[in-house]
Amino acid sequence: METKQKLQREYFKEKYNFICCNCGYEQGVKPSIMMTGFGINSGHGSCLSCGEFLHLEIEGGLDGENMVSELWDDFLKKTRSQNEPNKSQ
Ligand SMILES: [Zn+2]
Repeated sequence: METKQKLQREYFKEKYNFICCNCGYEQGVKPSIMMTGFGINSGHGSCLSCGEFLHLEIEGGLDGENMVSELWDDFLKKTRSQNEPNKSQ
């Protein structure tokens, strides 16, 4: 277990910069547990400036250098439409 955690810590940066898609404020955030623990490129947080709740993901995949933000509601809409079955039966 410990070995795994060490590997993941080396793999991920301590902090990623992202720009709030709502107000444009640039800030840093730690990778989420989903990213470091499960390898899923998905996280969330509130903007330090405007307080908007954001979905965050590492740009270009888990080995990327920065994060990108989008409004949580937009992320949910996107996720929902992806999970919807194709048309009604
Ligand atoms: Zn903001």
